[in-house]
Amino acid sequence: MRQKRAKSYRKQLLVYTHTFKFRQPYQVLVDDQIVLNATTSKFNLVKSLSQTLQAEVKPMITQCCIQALYATENQNAINLAKSYERRRCNHPPNDAKAPAICIESVVNVDGENKHRYVVATQDIKLRRKLRRVPGVPLLHINRSVMVMEPLSDASARISRKMEQEKLFKGLNDPKYAGLKKNDEADIEDLKNQEVRKRKSGPKEPNPLSVKKKKKQTDTESGNKNKEDINKAISIEESNKKKRKRRHKKKNKENQIEDNSKQEAENVEKSSEVDETESLERQEHSD
Ligand SMILES: [Zn+2]
Repeated sequence: MRQKRAKSYRKQLLVYTHTFKFRQPYQVLVDDQIVLNATTSKFNLVKSLSQTLQAEVKPMITQCCIQALYATENQNAINLAKSYERRRCNHPPNDAKAPAICIESVVNVDGENKHRYVVATQDIKLRRKLRRVPGVPLLHINRSVMVMEPLSDASARISRKMEQEKLFKGLNDPKYAGLKKNDEADIEDLKNQEVRKRKSGPKEPNPLSVKKKKKQTDTESGNKNKEDINKAISIEESNKKKRKRRHKKKNKENQIEDNSKQEAENVEKSSEVDETESLERQEHSD
């Protein structure tokens, strides 16, 4: 492909990607005539499609176009067409539509190229019809060269309108880049999402950094509970003792007295413990 043409195609394809949100691999609907043309002139259809569109392509063919090829009984063309992805058009095989009607019904959904198809067709009437639908890249073979039609008036109008909108809304706001006017609801959604994101910060620690809780069997947990209760009681008791002591700290004399009393108590208690222990030992020995 000559450099000049490649550049102009690239420019046109930018409009399809930016304004009409085409994504690679481009889905290319081929008609029966272009498949026949490619097989008779030994023309590599997929290769030249991807060269012309300067991208990955996914060739597709409708059920009705395949039916039209069956009628020609050109086995090479049928085999080639069968290697492409089949596009279901919901026209019954025994009542197949003419390829042009079938392709138009698949591409033109309420005046829009809803599924973002590139159309490669040798049918000039079909191409003329599809020029009225904005955002349909049109290809055909002209003397064994794949050609892309210049941007249709309908496509150019939409593209200009969007450029204008971008100017008014502000080029610096990436939220408005590549969005149509009737996508304003989407923009609102975007804003709401951002607000929601800001509100919900990470309040809990990262669950991956937290140690997992051990699963306890019933008996184990019961034992643990008992232990916990015992601990709690002993802690409470020690707290009580401390508190008593604090209350009595009024003057030095009292404090000394209290201390001596406390010591005496402690001694008594320890002796008691000794007694009980010795008693127990005696019982065991008995
Ligand atoms: Zn069909």
